[in-house]
Amino acid sequence: MNVEALYQDIILDHYKHPRGRQLLADPAGESHQVNPTCGDEVTVQVGLDSDGHLLVGYEGQGCSISQASASVMSELVAGFDPAQGDDARRAFVELMHSKGAAEPDEDVLGDAVAFVGVAKYPARIKCALLPWMALQDAEAKAGIGIAQEGTSTS
Ligand code: ZN
Repeated sequence: MNVEALYQDIILDHYKHPRGRQLLADPAGESHQVNPTCGDEVTVQVGLDSDGHLLVGYEGQGCSISQASASVMSELVAGFDPAQGDDARRAFVELMHSKGAAEPDEDVLGDAVAFVGVAKYPARIKCALLPWMALQDAEAKAGIGIAQEGTSTS
């Protein structure tokens, strides 16, 4: 099996068997994002657990790329500290702007490396980015991430 087929399988698997697809009991922030050109919708919720690690919940509907991306994102980012989550999001945005030429780092991106091929199709890039945009917006609303840099919890 070549890499492209393997990556397609990963995306399809996340679409058919979404990970972590549920809303949080007590979210600190929430964002609903819509991609009108494709009809995708996703709601992402975030919070922090008692150790300061990210809690991520989501629900959505739309194409396989958008929904698989939400599943991959929540599986990857949940449990990260906010700075790690930011790193992953930045790496994914960069990947989506690579026109498919990047060699993504699986240590940073996990299953999200599978979306490298999607970056060749401009119409689908928005689908893949939608849940990550929702994550960023939800974190901003919750005051998680960049806004907290420089503050110490100890
Ligand atoms: Zn889509």
